[in-house]
Amino acid sequence: MTPPSTASPPGTWAPGLCWRCETDDVPVIWLGPAHSEHHGHAPFVACERCVTRLEELIAAYAVGRSRTS
Ligand SMILES: [Zn+2]
Repeated sequence: MTPPSTASPPGTWAPGLCWRCETDDVPVIWLGPAHSEHHGHAPFVACERCVTRLEELIAAYAVGRSRTS
């Protein structure tokens, strides 16, 4: 899925609002579309600190998934 035209291309950092910690005017990166039941899609972006934490959660999820499969 491609990001909306208002978002930076995937893999690039641009100043904006982090959608996880809500810090504004920090370098954020597009992680994927966020789905809203009522408002459709929105670009989910996060700052470097939050991306690091999300990477940890994704790694833990991947480990758990590989254990159960
Ligand atoms: Zn953040």
